[in-house]
Amino acid sequence: MSAHRIPFMSLIPGDDAADVRQAIDRVIARGWFVLGPEVSAFEEEFASASGAARAVGVGTGTDAIALILRALDIGPGDEVITSPLSAAYSALAVIMAGARPVFADIDPLRMTIDPDRIADLVGPRTRAILPVHLYGQPADMAAIARVAARYNLAIVEDACQAHLATAGGRPVGTIGIAGAFSFYPTKNLGALGDGGAVVTNDAALADRVARLRNGGQTDRYHHQEPGINSRLDDIQAAILRARLPRLRGWTERRRALAARYRSRLAGAPVELLPERDPGHVYHLFVVRTGERPALQAHLAAHGIETLIHYPVSIPRQPALAGQDPGQCPVAARVCGEILSLPLHPALRDDEVDEIAAAVHTFQPRTVVS
Ligand SMILES: *Cc1c(COP(=O)(O)O)cnc(C)c1O
Repeated sequence: MSAHRIPFMSLIPGDDAADVRQAIDRVIARGWFVLGPEVSAFEEEFASASGAARAVGVGTGTDAIALILRALDIGPGDEVITSPLSAAYSALAVIMAGARPVFADIDPLRMTIDPDRIADLVGPRTRAILPVHLYGQPADMAAIARVAARYNLAIVEDACQAHLATAGGRPVGTIGIAGAFSFYPTKNLGALGDGGAVVTNDAALADRVARLRNGGQTDRYHHQEPGINSRLDDIQAAILRARLPRLRGWTERRRALAARYRSRLAGAPVELLPERDPGHVYHLFVVRTGERPALQAHLAAHGIETLIHYPVSIPRQPALAGQDPGQCPVAARVCGEILSLPLHPALRDDEVDEIAAAVHTFQPRTVVS
């Protein structure tokens, strides 16, 4: 529990609590807990909500990315170009698949991978581009698709922060060959534990992911290829089914809160990230300042909890040291300036006003340019 008066978020079920409990009870009463009827029903419902032909439930968003790559036969000896500013799991998933992540620096305003930098990094081993729809804002998919077409690369979308988002009007996850979603509890659609899904319009790819997530089995105890154990469980699937009908309303609420932040923060001593696509679903509301530690302390003194997504760019993580990750100076600089303000569907308008007012009273030592 946060001691802050306005915590960053709360994971305790709210208006959906009764439905969530009923979903859990239904699964317990049935006694089928892994890859059962709730998982199949959720896969159909999530595919439909995401505008995709198929969805395959898996254990985590990280696994979803790694399983898509494996199902595309991308592995040892191959390179995947991805973003240096993301949850490190984006790149760790590439490593899990046996491939090497190569980092193209970000667009300094959109914060997603810069399509021009991608082209600079394509080499004979490059097989795919893994853009991340960071903070709920889609990457520049039109430009990324042009680069992918020119070099014959697959596009695998990390949509772990972008449930129901659209890029140029098209649902994320369906623009590339497949998309990965996470249902980690803090995500826009969260479970009460870990969960993930792959969405795709490619039936053969969906079938291969479904096989790989379950040990590579074709029939029970017949393993066609060395898959992994990354199954979605029925309690999580039932909880996600209870929440999915609310997701559109929650997303609209996030957008309304973000719009309120934008208007209330006009003239405040922070930089706002531009909304480059109306399909943005505001997983996070991030501001920039050259004086982040002071701003974070100022807000904490006003009882407002903030977080940093992310304090270290992925190429600079010690875990990547063996991968020759290259330099991404824009991402490295941005990591020192970004601050996430509270944003979740249960946040009230007056809380946004209070947070914005506290930001206005922050006195930076230097002027933000
Ligand atoms: C959460 C997240 C992941 C990993 O998802 P898990 O379900 O935690 O494995 C990957 N990429 C991004 C952008 C994320 O936000």
